[in-house]
Amino acid sequence: MFATTPGAAVSRYFGFWPRELNAIFDRLPRVFCKTGGSVVAVSAPNSFNSLSMKILCIGRNYAEHIAELQNETPDAPVIFAKPDTALLQRNQPFFLPDFSQDIHHEVELVLRICKNGKNIEEKFAPTYFDAIGLGIDFTARDLQSKLKSKGLPWELAKGFDGSAPISQEFKPVSEFADLKNIDFRLEVNGEVRQQGNSGLMLHDFSKIISYISQFITLKMGDLIFTGTPSGVGPVKIGDQLTGFIGEDKMFDLAVK
Ligand code: MG
Repeated sequence: MFATTPGAAVSRYFGFWPRELNAIFDRLPRVFCKTGGSVVAVSAPNSFNSLSMKILCIGRNYAEHIAELQNETPDAPVIFAKPDTALLQRNQPFFLPDFSQDIHHEVELVLRICKNGKNIEEKFAPTYFDAIGLGIDFTARDLQSKLKSKGLPWELAKGFDGSAPISQEFKPVSEFADLKNIDFRLEVNGEVRQQGNSGLMLHDFSKIISYISQFITLKMGDLIFTGTPSGVGPVKIGDQLTGFIGEDKMFDLAVK
């Protein structure tokens, strides 16, 4: 039987993938397609379309976390990116990679960008994200330290497969009474390891969006990890990582 995905079929027909179709596919119920014998999900409600999205992250955005890693406080936000293949969704387990002996959890609030924008002024930035979720910026700390000491880019320590689990649900911005007072936390095996509040960020959501968009055009469906509070630490096989915004459980994933 002829096996294909809608994306492949459309690309073949048009010779490219029309970006406008991403919005349509994001609204479809989950569809499973045969691809060479394997079954893959191509679209799901509240899922992110890896055909067009990017994942941007801010580092060193909480003073106590900067102190625990003995980093310098940067003048401007520290920005890095993860590829779409870093995404982990629907509470899928995280498999420890074999190239690191020191994978750290960094729990972070995650913004979902809802429209395209460049050079966004801070006062308009709140209109560019419509929902907030929770994720983990998994970091191969040993590899990152080695790369940092040589002044090399961090990508491999931050962007490896599965290094960006996100909550299945993203809460609409309208559900938050105050964006500068959002409590979130990470529990490891039922014990609180990281506790944060958006009010403690050195650069708030608007500043982050405005700053990034001076360099990189933001597009609908992009995600922004907004930095981790103190308490980062290693994970091991068998750990259960549970993330909360307020008292709402956002994700619950196993380390394997
Ligand atoms: Mg981080």
